[in-house]
Amino acid sequence: MFSWLKRKKPGVNNMRNITIIGGGQAGLQTAIGLLKAGHKVTVAQNRTADEIAKGKVLSSQCMFHTALQNERDLGINFWDDSCPPVEGINFMVPTPDGSGNKAIDWAARLDDGFALSVDQRVKIPRWLAEFEKLGGNLVIQDVGIPELEKYAAESDLVLVASGKGEISSLFERDAEKSPYDKPQRALALTYVTGMTPRPVHSAVCFNLIPGVGEYFVFPALTTTGPCEIMVFEGVPGGPMDTWKPDFTPEQHLEHSLGILKTFLPWEYERCQNVKLTDDNGILAGRFAPTTRKPIATLPSGAKVMGLADAVCLNDPITGQGSNNASKAAKIYLDSILANGDKPFDAAWMQGTFDAYWDYAQWVVTWTNAMLMPPPEHILQIMGTACQVPDVASRIANGFNDPTSFFPWFMDPNAAAEYLGKFSPAAE
Ligand SMILES: Cc1cc2nc3c(=O)[nH]c(=O)nc-3n(C[C@H](O)[C@H](O)[C@H](O)COP(=O)(O)OP(=O)(O)OC[C@H]3O[C@@H](n4cnc5c(N)ncnc54)[C@H](O)[C@@H]3O)c2cc1C
Repeated sequence: MFSWLKRKKPGVNNMRNITIIGGGQAGLQTAIGLLKAGHKVTVAQNRTADEIAKGKVLSSQCMFHTALQNERDLGINFWDDSCPPVEGINFMVPTPDGSGNKAIDWAARLDDGFALSVDQRVKIPRWLAEFEKLGGNLVIQDVGIPELEKYAAESDLVLVASGKGEISSLFERDAEKSPYDKPQRALALTYVTGMTPRPVHSAVCFNLIPGVGEYFVFPALTTTGPCEIMVFEGVPGGPMDTWKPDFTPEQHLEHSLGILKTFLPWEYERCQNVKLTDDNGILAGRFAPTTRKPIATLPSGAKVMGLADAVCLNDPITGQGSNNASKAAKIYLDSILANGDKPFDAAWMQGTFDAYWDYAQWVVTWTNAMLMPPPEHILQIMGTACQVPDVASRIANGFNDPTSFFPWFMDPNAAAEYLGKFSPAAE
């Protein structure tokens, strides 16, 4: 049945027929990679390009060098010249006395190249057009179980890259890999123009307010041109967990500025002339970070496989979700291509996810740890980074490759050993 769908395109060996549910960062990157390798690809996506472009912002999507390189390798890096670069990381902690001073303040440049944040309202519509231009079959459809059954019957492989979409709950939550069962932060985004740039070099300006939450801000490209994205991560029940679902865009901006005025006066100072990029440049919500089992079995017995946020959803506190999605897409793409004309069976699915998890487990562990109050050794590392540029640089560059935080950042003994090299006695 359906063997006509699996027929080979002239000149392409082992052409496979692959369906991807969800045309986001991971789904489209994988889909375009597969098309470029000569495969037949369907993407089923529940929002049109126009709906995405005209809808609310979805993310702050700051992506570092390695993840961006995956896009460059596929020739879908359309914004390298137009998106303002993020050149470093600046980490700040206010003093606890409310005086408006900083207890910690260090900055370091990204060594391997800049980071970029291209509004998904810009990126995804452009990638959807590219996917169709390359011959991909785009179906606008909200996929449920019946549609999954149909795609599974027609395709050699079905990947579910539906992000936080409801359909992702088809994959069983992996309790061992998911320490939290509730949201750990109240999240909000505010896209603005007119912010005073950070001096010397641009950066993700990351502010940690103990017990209250985190605020980070960085340059980006949105539908109206360059902007700055303000990201708020409020500890549940705390003074930053105060977003109302019925805020007007103006109230959302006013609320954002009120938080900065109260807790981070230096950030408020930069905002004297800010305006919202557009009425949809705001978002508020929350979700529980969750890792899921990578394979789901449909009522018919057919198996489908989860990709990126659908099965490995992290809190945005470390800004890794889109980076993970890009890295997962690359691992899955390479694994599909390496499989030749062999079946995409459960063993292949598990092996492919395990190859991703070899990397992602470190990101998940680091990100989940950052949601806890900082332990003493991390405060010591952050304090030392104010005096020792090597330490600041090592933290900043860890955002490109979070595996590099292990063990020195995560383990108190390893941290003590590392910091010992910089103590006066060691000189
Ligand atoms: C507030 C916030 C800030 C963030 N900041 C950053 C950051 O700075 N850096 C970073 O790297 N990451 C960040 N992220 C995370 C990042 O946006 C996601 O991890 C990334 O977009 C995941 O990509 P994905 O392809 O897995 O899913 P998505 O990008 O969510 O794409 C999923 C797609 O599937 C579609 N879909 C869902 N259900 C269905 C269905 N049933 N049928 C058909 N289509 C469906 C959706 O409409 C969507 O288009 C942030 C997230 C949030 C919420």
